[in-house]
Amino acid sequence: MQHIWFQVIDVKGMSLYRSWTNKSGDSLLKARLDVVKMIQYPHVISSISTGKFDMTFKSMVPLFKDHEFIGIIEVIAKFNSIAKKMQEEACQTLILVDKKYKKQLTKVPKDRFLKEYYIVNINPNQDLLKRVSLASLEKLINIKTYEIDMKNNTLVSLYKQPDIHGNDMGYFILSKKISMIDMSDVSRSKNKIIMALIVVFIFIVILVYYLYIVNYQTFIKQQNKKLESKVVQKTSQLHYRAYHDSLTGLANRLLFQDRLVQSIKQAERAKKNIALFFLDLDRFKEVNDTYGHGLGDELLIEITKLLTNTFRKEDTIARLGGDEFAVIVNNIEKKDIVEVVNKTIALIQDDITINGHNLNVTFSIGISMYPKDALTAEALLKNADTAMYRVKESGKNSYMFYDNEMTQLIEDRLHLKNDIKRALIENEFEPYFQVKIDARTNKVVGVEALVRWNHPEKDLILPDDFIPFTEEVGLISQIDKYMMKASIKIINEWYKKGLNPGLLSLNITSKQLDDERYMHEIIEIVESLSFDYNHLEIEILEHQIIDNPQKVVSILQEVKKLGITISIDGFGTGYSSLSYLKILPIDKLKIDRSFIMNIVNNKDNIAIVKTIINLAKNLDLDLVAEGVETQEQIDFLLQEGCYVMQGYFYSKPIPAKECEVYLQEHL
Ligand code: C2E
Ligand code: CA
Repeated sequence: MQHIWFQVIDVKGMSLYRSWTNKSGDSLLKARLDVVKMIQYPHVISSISTGKFDMTFKSMVPLFKDHEFIGIIEVIAKFNSIAKKMQEEACQTLILVDKKYKKQLTKVPKDRFLKEYYIVNINPNQDLLKRVSLASLEKLINIKTYEIDMKNNTLVSLYKQPDIHGNDMGYFILSKKISMIDMSDVSRSKNKIIMALIVVFIFIVILVYYLYIVNYQTFIKQQNKKLESKVVQKTSQLHYRAYHDSLTGLANRLLFQDRLVQSIKQAERAKKNIALFFLDLDRFKEVNDTYGHGLGDELLIEITKLLTNTFRKEDTIARLGGDEFAVIVNNIEKKDIVEVVNKTIALIQDDITINGHNLNVTFSIGISMYPKDALTAEALLKNADTAMYRVKESGKNSYMFYDNEMTQLIEDRLHLKNDIKRALIENEFEPYFQVKIDARTNKVVGVEALVRWNHPEKDLILPDDFIPFTEEVGLISQIDKYMMKASIKIINEWYKKGLNPGLLSLNITSKQLDDERYMHEIIEIVESLSFDYNHLEIEILEHQIIDNPQKVVSILQEVKKLGITISIDGFGTGYSSLSYLKILPIDKLKIDRSFIMNIVNNKDNIAIVKTIINLAKNLDLDLVAEGVETQEQIDFLLQEGCYVMQGYFYSKPIPAKECEVYLQEHL
């Protein structure tokens, strides 16, 4: 027969394990006040509880780990089992529950009551039962530990059991014939009971300790599991972050490359094509600059939604960075790609409205195909990027399929860039000078320095073949500074020889005017060569100023303060509005060559040149006409009031030595 049971309860009052049943996992909070108490204030709670035929001794022990309450062990011992043991020892046992607890015993048969007291024993000793009349029962209950009933020649012992509140709840009555014991026997039997209880107690302590260890291990395991799941959760979060773009949630470059490798493997097996789209937004920088990065981010999110709705689930869309997206389109034929790419371009053809702002961005898309254009992920991406780059160069808002010539072009460009860097070190650039003449006096009033490249392996290279590229790759400022230094040195030499060529004009790309260091560099060059600012003029192309007037205007004001003359080059081609002309600190307009060319026969050109001349007069600006090749052009310009001229009629751009001779003849 089992004497001891136990259960394990967690900190929330859930029964985790019961040794007497398979049932577990239910909450004990509603049914058990002692469990509630324990959770509120964890401490050892002993009590008894009543059952139909038994009385149970319970002990609840809280478990702690590092001072943290981690659960409860409850040990239960049935008194019947102890009573039975007693009977075997010729001890009569009667176990009673106090009348106060009658309410708990509603379904119990009436004959199990001795007056108000409930008899717990399964087989209460009939002798003892008869003898314990109500009067003597009350008396009995008041005895301290034991009493000798001389009339019946019996030793009667009583043990009281408290409830959860410490009130007497149960009575454990034992009797033994004195004839069967001598007095030493009394204490021995008492000792036996005590021993039995000590054994039970020790057993309980060992059990509690054992359970504590078991439970502690379970607890550790549970904690480990929790930790594990946290680690798994955290790892998957980290994994997600490592492979996704945080703004749009799209695949990032890493995941994209991984997917592309997988797609290639599948396509190889299934003998299918892959199309790789490389998408770059046009004018995204403008949106960021004008409305701020917050709106730029929202725009990217909006575009992500549009892309996600357009491509199939099996296609991977990625944000590779900034305004660059890429899409892997699996299993597609070239003829179908055009439809998909047109659809993609159409997605953002209309303005996208965000926070009341109508944003106009477009896509430049480069496409490379597996296996036609490349066999590896890296090469496919590179080729699509190259094709996209070509779209950008040829006007944006469109798409191009990659072809091998594009790579050649890219390689050529790389080669050219390195060649320019080398040429700067090797001093291969040389200023040529083209004079500006006052047509009324035929005297030189200025010279424009124009760069030439003395390439060691090629013929002389003219600026149109490398200046636009140099601007694009950011090397132009180095060339312009080189030109400034080299030209000033030459003019200084001329001064020494008594030649004064008037204003020295230098062509400056407005792109470098954004650079704050630029002003300092000009000052440094001019000062280091002891050149007079008043003898210096800079020519800036009209369309370059219009592209970014706010940025340019402040730096031009600084330039003008130094005493440098500012001239707008190629005037008339950039459609300057009068308002710009008013805010820009300019001194001079240079009428573009294209208007001068056919001026005698072309009515439109005549009208334009007349308008520019009037405009300059009204705004009090100086004028130069460039590209003057004939006497007729000179006559027309003089007649209209434009006196300073530059062009082949007078001289082509020529090396310094030749120009020196020209100056000697025309000053
Ligand atoms: P630009 O500033 O408009 O320079 C005038 C260009 O017109 C020169 O071409 C010159 O040779 C040409 N030209 C002058 N008179 C006539 C003429 O009567 N008929 C014809 N057909 N052409 C004439 P070039 O030297 O080839 O320079 C081309 C452009 O390269 C320049 O146009 C200028 O924008 C740029 N450039 C030249 N040197 C530099 C430089 O050092 N720095 C920068 N940033 N740009 C430069
Ligand atoms: Ca010029």
